[in-house]
Amino acid sequence: MAAPWEDVLRDQPAIREAASVAVDAALLQGMLMRTEGEPNASDVVNYAPFTLLPSVVPSALFEQAYAVQQDFNLLVDAISQNKEFLEHTLASTIKVDDFTAQLFRIHVQVLEEGLAQSVFLGINRSDYMFDCGVDGTPALKQIEINTIAASFGGLTSRTAAVHGQVLKVLGKAKEASHLLPNNPSKGLALGIAKAWELYGSESAVVMFLVEEIQRNIFDQRCVENELWNRDGQEVAVVYYREGYVPKNYDQQNWEARLLLERSRAVKCPDIATQLAGTKKVQQELSRPGMLERLLPGRAEAVARIRATFAGLYSLDMGEEGDKIAATAIADPDRFVLKPQREGGGNNLYGEELRQVLEKIRDSPERTSYILMDKIKPQPARNYLLRAHSPLQVSDCISELGIFGVYVRQGKEMVMNKAAGHLLRTKAIEHADGGVAAGVAVLDTPYLV
Ligand code: ADP
Ligand code: MG
Repeated sequence: MAAPWEDVLRDQPAIREAASVAVDAALLQGMLMRTEGEPNASDVVNYAPFTLLPSVVPSALFEQAYAVQQDFNLLVDAISQNKEFLEHTLASTIKVDDFTAQLFRIHVQVLEEGLAQSVFLGINRSDYMFDCGVDGTPALKQIEINTIAASFGGLTSRTAAVHGQVLKVLGKAKEASHLLPNNPSKGLALGIAKAWELYGSESAVVMFLVEEIQRNIFDQRCVENELWNRDGQEVAVVYYREGYVPKNYDQQNWEARLLLERSRAVKCPDIATQLAGTKKVQQELSRPGMLERLLPGRAEAVARIRATFAGLYSLDMGEEGDKIAATAIADPDRFVLKPQREGGGNNLYGEELRQVLEKIRDSPERTSYILMDKIKPQPARNYLLRAHSPLQVSDCISELGIFGVYVRQGKEMVMNKAAGHLLRTKAIEHADGGVAAGVAVLDTPYLV
């Protein structure tokens, strides 16, 4: 689908002028990250990378993504309360994946001791790409759902103003007025505040857990600034913006995680909800009948969720796994091979996928991965703006994320919302990687 500013893409002087306006607008709007190489220097910042222009997104698919978000909130919440499902689904994975196994051990231990927590807060982001089917009609296909540390809900609220400015400079004021306002961090903060309120202790605080070296601090501050400042020590809500990669944990950190998990504090996420976001769970959900079992009596929600699923395949030992492994080795470009990791840059594609899968095809190690159909979106041209990088046009693909937030008290859902969106765009040369990994950049959807 052509963008209504296709004509200016080749007008180099106009593009250069727009790029300098864009960078100033990004700095002015606070679309910031700490500078690479000096992530701890508190006064050295740069703009977060972003596209010069918005990207065209079919409005029907955008609406579909919003419409299914509450269903996904319900699903994640249901999985987190379903001990048997998590146990059964992760049984093969935890035999070979130490990190998932360690999380799972804590999960089992706190269940055996009895949960102290009675209020639950979920903040997730469901990510999609627009797959071009055989007939070229784009379809919304889920990449994954992030149930821990889903980021950029703060900085993404700045992109529409920046892109609006760029479009105006390029003589596209009418198009600029079509950009949607968007502020996920506000919705996330409302969820955190609700969980805090239900926890029921005036003097208790919200604790943000962040990495020691954190370039993306401003994104976290956006959420924090939406909350109000209080004193005191008791922790009502623990909001994780780390804790999803093995390197976040040494022995002491694992003990701290267990301590928090045993406490009455509202964990966002609790460990069961983190496990609900694993790639292995995603793959098991695609089995016939599984969604129906997890969401009984919700046929419409099940249909909406299922419509977003791409092909997902188990590599568990046995005939089913043998067969799909052989298919992927023969035709690696049809698939993505995914380990149980988050944060970008972990998946395998093409020749590398073939080599790794060939090596582990007869070993239980393969069960730490899943296979997924590769989604193939239609590329569009755009300029990617990065500090200290030359201005250069690229063929790009985009990934749309919808933020979900929900709060449950005991058995009762007291909040269930879609909180806003995030569009990230990257050059097609990169198969993998997010904004934090330096591959994707922030973008604004332009609905057509
Ligand atoms: P992570 O937890 O590391 O973010 P993802 O499943 O989101 O893992 O994959 C990382 C990136 O890899 C995505 O942002 C997307 O660019 C690419 N990717 C993942 N799955 C697919 C797929 N099925 N088809 C095409 N690209 C994919
Ligand atoms: Mg991802």
